[in-house]
Amino acid sequence: MDSLTLTISVTLTSFFMCMTSSMLYLRSRSETYLIDWSFASLAFLLSSLIALIGLYSESTNFLFPTIANVLNIIAHATLLSGTTKLTNNKSIPFLVIGLGILVFVLHYLDFTRSSTTARILLFYPIIISLCLGNIYFALKHMQSSRQSDLTLLVVIHSAFAIFLIVRGIYIAFFNETLQLFGNDIIQTSGSLLLLAFMFSMTLNFIFIPTWRKELELNKHSRNDYLTGWLNRRALAEIAYNLFIKSQRESKIFGAIIIDIDHFKTINDTYGHAVGDEAIKHICNQIRNCNRSYDFHFRLGGEEFLVLVDDTKEKYVRQFAHRIREKIEQTPLMLGNQKINITVSLGATTFHSTDNSWEQLLDRADKALYQAKNEGRNQVVVASKSFPTSTKHQLNMKKHLASS
Ligand code: GH3
Ligand code: MG
Ligand code: MG
Repeated sequence: MDSLTLTISVTLTSFFMCMTSSMLYLRSRSETYLIDWSFASLAFLLSSLIALIGLYSESTNFLFPTIANVLNIIAHATLLSGTTKLTNNKSIPFLVIGLGILVFVLHYLDFTRSSTTARILLFYPIIISLCLGNIYFALKHMQSSRQSDLTLLVVIHSAFAIFLIVRGIYIAFFNETLQLFGNDIIQTSGSLLLLAFMFSMTLNFIFIPTWRKELELNKHSRNDYLTGWLNRRALAEIAYNLFIKSQRESKIFGAIIIDIDHFKTINDTYGHAVGDEAIKHICNQIRNCNRSYDFHFRLGGEEFLVLVDDTKEKYVRQFAHRIREKIEQTPLMLGNQKINITVSLGATTFHSTDNSWEQLLDRADKALYQAKNEGRNQVVVASKSFPTSTKHQLNMKKHLASS
């Protein structure tokens, strides 16, 4: 493979990289990290164009490799800037500019001016550090978000860093006479490496926003618009998983159904908008009472469900009482006016004799019905042998049909 063909290929690939990232940004303006990645692609494009002009004109002017290298480092730093914006909401313009100036100045030291090998050995550690920065931020993000969306980015930067280390070691110990241009494999492997890197980064540019859009759509289809809580669609999947886990690992999970008392009166007295505020207020109070890893659902209207993972009946009972008290003691403030709200709660825990999660929820629902019947603003915990009256069964059917 000759240098000229490879440099033309790198130029073309960086052109497609630039087109892809900028078109993706124009299509989804909220993905602002794509701006940084578009600039990085543009810097790669300009860098390879300058290298191409130098190569084609067979110029020995030192400005060609200087500007090509400065743009190359700026491109890698701007890729990192996109990654920090994506994972941390912050870009790093000072690092990008600082590195650009540093690399420019370094080109005018006698040491770097004298040989291509010296320049490679000086600039490779900078590029490897930028790759490690990308890997660090991507892994941190994946750990905190529990998503594997940046796996491809980690793989590409890891592979690129490893190849740079191998090539750098080879050049340092076995090939001290690297020229500016040449067609042997150690000479051309640098461009080949960059070509593979840019090609896979282009795939990554397409992959990340697509994955993020998919996650957003998934979130909208599983979450309630008013409260942000999970909806019935998500319930089936989560409750089934908790049920299987409880059966397999003999762990107990609990369910608490919460229904606002006389909610219709709030709507009728203060209007639907205040009703909506009351729903959000109740959700906040419930959330303040429990652990971050419990699951919160809005079953419909003014009825909510909390699934408590890995618990005991006494904790579910305590938890339900805490919610009731908290809501009773925290009125909704409408300017200076206080609106007192109470809730009724039905709770239960998993029993080894339960055949399905629906059976567990059915028991919690019956307990809620009893709490309403016994005067509201109270908690009823359903044990395994919870009684079911014919009147209750009739009401349950009506209730399920309406929800
Ligand atoms: P109970 O104590 O027996 O639970 O009485 P309730 O008035 O709370 O129960 P009911 O089921 O009769 O009324 C629920 C009301 O909730 C009826 C419906 O108009 C209202 N509702 C349902 N969804 C929403 C919503 O998203 N926003 C508002 N503001 N109201 C809603
Ligand atoms: Mg109600
Ligand atoms: Mg209701």
